[in-house]
Amino acid sequence: MSETFRAIVATETDGTVAGRLTTLSDTDLPKGDVVVDVAYSSLNYKDGLSVTGRGRVARRFPMVCGVDLVGSVRQSDSPEFKEGQSVLVTGYGLSETHPGGFTQRQRLRSEWLVALPSGLSPVQAMAIGTAGFTSMLCVMALEDVGIGPDGPGGSEILVTGAAGGVGSVAVAILAHLGYTVAASSGRPETYDYLRSLGAKSIVARSELSGGPSRPLDTQRWRGAIDTVGSATLASVLSQISYGGAVAACGLAGGNDLPASVLPFILRAIKLVGVESVQTPMAQRLLAWERLSGDLPLESLEAMTTIEPLGRVPELAADILAGRTRGRVVIDVNA
Ligand code: NDP
Repeated sequence: MSETFRAIVATETDGTVAGRLTTLSDTDLPKGDVVVDVAYSSLNYKDGLSVTGRGRVARRFPMVCGVDLVGSVRQSDSPEFKEGQSVLVTGYGLSETHPGGFTQRQRLRSEWLVALPSGLSPVQAMAIGTAGFTSMLCVMALEDVGIGPDGPGGSEILVTGAAGGVGSVAVAILAHLGYTVAASSGRPETYDYLRSLGAKSIVARSELSGGPSRPLDTQRWRGAIDTVGSATLASVLSQISYGGAVAACGLAGGNDLPASVLPFILRAIKLVGVESVQTPMAQRLLAWERLSGDLPLESLEAMTTIEPLGRVPELAADILAGRTRGRVVIDVNA
């Protein structure tokens, strides 16, 4: 007999998309070779877009929302994964082309699964989720272009959108690795929180969001992780010191880039794009291994709240409005 379970499902009615708590059954599960009993998911900016319908995330409807999940294997046709094993998935088109993680049960393709890293609990894995995974990819991208904590010309790294999910995890990792971290936020009430994660200085969002005052501004940062895009990223580029680099992963402030080429051709700076959905498995495994060692778990706990599945529609509106601090784990069984 087919069992029922709860999920947040986006539907389209008269051109309006919205995600709602719905009951599904095993017959609704998509194709795949592994069925997972989901324990937790997490809330990301993209989930805000898909659940509220403010961004075109799902390519077809109905679609289970949620880009992340962790749980235990219920049934497996793959020799790689056995029943009862703890696994996680982030990205790979979940909630876009394949039903996602805001559900109590999901069927998936085994090549997307990552065994839960030893040293991380299921809750910790989702406290990291796509956002924290992206933060680590950004740190690795900076390292790849030679921006280490002891680099020449100082080690100060700026993180924009710092009180959000990607930003919070990035601040905690960078501080743990020994970088001097400057955190940019538009919410003064988060400044103490950001200092508690390891930020040495705070930059008001308004200092960056208006765009550069001149194409080559005072050289302030050896590197940056930018989650905001648009005029903020343009300001950051104008302030990167000679030979420095920016890892750009986000568009919380807009997807345009009103910038000058001068910092690139006169200061030899680099702009590195970071993408978390299609990240190759070897890089994925490396990033998760790094996360289980380079992210202090007490900082992770301090930035995380746990919410029940039924609150996802409300929380989706909150994250788009910039009201979410740090990371939100979704307990799909609560
Ligand atoms: P959050 O909403 O948790 O964080 C975004 C933060 O950006 C907010 O907390 C706020 O920080 C700041 N912000 C929001 N609106 C504005 C604005 N209009 N102008 C300037 N700053 C703003 O989202 P996530 O951390 O989950 O994601 C951050 C960004 O990264 C998103 O754009 C998301 O799409 C992108 N992303 C990209 C990925 C990829 O694969 N490339 C993967 C994951 C996320 P504060 O209050 O501190 O100012």
